[in-house]
Amino acid sequence: MSREHSILIVGGGVAGLATAWELARLGQRGVLLLEREEQLGSHSSALNAAILRTLSSDPITTRLARASADFLRRPPEGFSEVPLVDPRGLVLVAGSDAAAGLRARVEALGPDAKVAEISQGELHTLAPAYAGPVAVAFHFPEEGQIDIAALMQGFARGARRGGVGIRTAAAVSELVCESGCVAGVRLENGERLRAATTVIAAGGWAGALGRAAGSGVRLRPTRRHLMVTAPDAAVERSWPVVWRLGADEFYCRPESGGMLLCACDLSDVEPDRCHADAGVRDTIAEKTAHQLPALAEAGAAHFWCGMRTLTEDGRFAIGPDPDLAGLFWVAGLAGAGMVCSGELGRIAAARLTGAPAELPAEIIDALAPARLAAPRG
Ligand SMILES: Cc1cc2nc3c(=O)[nH]c(=O)nc-3n(C[C@H](O)[C@H](O)[C@H](O)COP(=O)(O)OP(=O)(O)OC[C@H]3O[C@@H](n4cnc5c(N)ncnc54)[C@H](O)[C@@H]3O)c2cc1C
Repeated sequence: MSREHSILIVGGGVAGLATAWELARLGQRGVLLLEREEQLGSHSSALNAAILRTLSSDPITTRLARASADFLRRPPEGFSEVPLVDPRGLVLVAGSDAAAGLRARVEALGPDAKVAEISQGELHTLAPAYAGPVAVAFHFPEEGQIDIAALMQGFARGARRGGVGIRTAAAVSELVCESGCVAGVRLENGERLRAATTVIAAGGWAGALGRAAGSGVRLRPTRRHLMVTAPDAAVERSWPVVWRLGADEFYCRPESGGMLLCACDLSDVEPDRCHADAGVRDTIAEKTAHQLPALAEAGAAHFWCGMRTLTEDGRFAIGPDPDLAGLFWVAGLAGAGMVCSGELGRIAAARLTGAPAELPAEIIDALAPARLAAPRG
């Protein structure tokens, strides 16, 4: 093998870049990030809805998101020239099927959380176009929209400044194993790179890359679609994000003069074949007619899909591989990788370097890739 690195990171989406940025902050030398595409962050990290929502169905993910939201609101000096958050507000609504669960989760946030229950009338004032049946609505006035381009640029620029090497158009074809340890990677052009630790941050492709090297960690790449309507005079730029939970899950927010709409569809996908399915437009149209009737006739300006990589229990996979020494995971970020980016990078870098960090044992255990490993046969 050629050069020796301390840490190789495979993948230049938010998982890889947030990890690289934190490693640079900790002063870690010899870090190289490898991204297959010509551009960093051109898959899920560029294809998402950019919503800052911290309350999830899982208490651990909620904790990570709340801590990370503080980072997004107040990033370190020099991280970004523009604010990373547009606090347009977020309203979580539920019908009778999901109202009790939503209320319980909001109550579990405790008295310091910036959230208020609002009436139908108040919801109508905030988001006049929303017409779905509502049993309960909670307004999070400090949440809203993330500036994804600024966030990704901040991570990449800071990582480079801190000495991380970043190579694009560098596709990893396989992890190289020696005596049961991962010792580096082989690139598609045949080049071999050696490292003490290799980090899999390859989004939807992470599971297959690890599996091919003999890891038992199992991840599930799934597909979800988004649509932005044509600009429409009925849409006010200032409206909050509205996210309906439960059986009729759906979310929307203003975008480019129209509305960004999501029917919260979920289907398994082969990562190299993640193409938009026109049939999902019908599902979006049905939910829009029901919940945003004023936009029911608006045509589509953009329609696309991206990958959400799930784990069995919905929590991230951050930590060492249970079986292969030299291999570390930052993957399975599902639908919360952007909002949790600050915290997931901090956790990954602290675990990779052994730097002192306040990482409660229950967080480390909850994210441990070992819990996702199929028995090795
Ligand atoms: C429709 C949709 C809406 C979403 N909305 C939100 C939201 O509102 N808020 C939020 O917080 N999150 C949201 N998400 C989730 C968020 O986008 C993801 O959690 C996050 O982008 C995952 O980042 P990643 O770095 O793991 O993956 P990616 O961004 O996909 O990055 C993985 C990278 O690895 C590279 N790679 C893969 N294999 C190799 C290889 N062999 N060699 C070199 N490079 C390789 C890829 O080219 C890619 O650039 C949404 C996702 C989708 C699909």
